[in-house]
Amino acid sequence: MPATIRSIEKFWKLGIEDFNTHYFDIDQHYHLMVKEGNYQYDVFDLIKKYGSPAEIVFPYILEERLDNLINLFNSYIKIYRYSGKFFYHYPMKVNQNKEFVLPLVTEGANLETSSVNELKLVKKMWESGNLNSKIKVMCNGPKTKEYLDTIAELKSKDLDIIPVIEDMSEYVSLKSYRGNVGIRLDVDVRVSSHWNHKIDHFGFAEREIKKMGKIKNLKVLHYHIGSQIERLNDVMVPLRSAMETYVTLKKVNPSLETINIGGGMPIPYDRKYKYSVDTLIDGIIKFLSEFSKKHNIEPPNIACEWGRYIVAPAQITIYKILTEKEIIESKNANRKWYIVDGSFMNDLLDTWAIHQKWHVVPVNHMNAKRMAQAWLAGMSCDSDDKYTGQGSYVLLPRLSDLPPGEELFIAFFDSGAYQDALASHHCLLSSPVKLLAQNGEVKIIRRRESLDDVARLFGW
Ligand SMILES: *Cc1c(COP(=O)(O)O)cnc(C)c1O
Repeated sequence: MPATIRSIEKFWKLGIEDFNTHYFDIDQHYHLMVKEGNYQYDVFDLIKKYGSPAEIVFPYILEERLDNLINLFNSYIKIYRYSGKFFYHYPMKVNQNKEFVLPLVTEGANLETSSVNELKLVKKMWESGNLNSKIKVMCNGPKTKEYLDTIAELKSKDLDIIPVIEDMSEYVSLKSYRGNVGIRLDVDVRVSSHWNHKIDHFGFAEREIKKMGKIKNLKVLHYHIGSQIERLNDVMVPLRSAMETYVTLKKVNPSLETINIGGGMPIPYDRKYKYSVDTLIDGIIKFLSEFSKKHNIEPPNIACEWGRYIVAPAQITIYKILTEKEIIESKNANRKWYIVDGSFMNDLLDTWAIHQKWHVVPVNHMNAKRMAQAWLAGMSCDSDDKYTGQGSYVLLPRLSDLPPGEELFIAFFDSGAYQDALASHHCLLSSPVKLLAQNGEVKIIRRRESLDDVARLFGW
């Protein structure tokens, strides 16, 4: 009996909102399909046309995610009759590609910068006259003189820009600044996240902030506890701690009006269910509402900088399986090395850096009957260039079962966050071609690097 599309969908865990796979489906050719409203893209067709490895960007996914997030915050603000406002700030460091930043800004995102170079991009957009005059920009990261000068310049050109003070030297430099400022708190709470370290160098300890007394034009208390925060409580406990500092600060600085909770909303890369964004936002507004009442303060405006959560699902990365190899050390004959035609170390660097897992599915032959337990490796000559190995594997169609002359392609989901800016050129491999799929049309936005492109980076 032929397997139904529904059962194949289930096998590859597609169509599940909690996994962010509800944008994907299987078409009648058993190819991976991406849905944009009533339009659908056959990923295999795109790869046949443009080659692999490839990255495909779907701006409508960004727009939908941001829209949903803003609506969720605003609906809980209504439910709790909360009098503060919500502001989403897109942290540009998560993905600075124009094809990510512009749709988000269009959809109502404010911005957050981590460096002077990112701010220079904001400056470009501001000077072009295309940004709404109400857009707000927060500036994090160490403030070099050039960074501070650019902030002052944009302020003088009427951009609503708020530098966030990270250390004493910035505090001193910004004393002469005319506009509003924020201050960054290093919340003294350790949570379960790869990025929450026992000791780090960001912001001020609570006791330091308390000693500072009055800070001119203080508007925002900002903190960022980490990325990919695994437990709901690990968002709520730091929020409570930061709000205690907020109350103390507010007594000396009545101008304080916004709590910026930073980033951290996770992506279910490894398909483990975490907590829903709905429950979290409900919890945040409910807590802030009760806390403000209890401490008799004006409920603060809420800024959030969830980056990964918004942009990761908007890009997928496609590789071809070049070849398979026996795993000499394995007694299991069904376990094979699958070598891809790109590099994890170059294009999905978090695979190597922090052993991140992604959801991986075939692009074609999704109805295959028999699976191999594949250990995936990249094509650089580095023994660390692998996705799995030493025990874990990905189930993928057996290459020996494919009709003669046919190839297997695979897709890595959720590759839209951080991987581009981290990407590298180990073994002088070229970066993948980058495609944009929008309004039913597909175009190349970065062509595959030629030898000349790559060689030039190395002075050739
Ligand atoms: C990295 C960063 C973010 C984004 O974090 P996500 O985990 O991607 O949501 C937000 N704010 C600051 C200050 C950051 O450094």
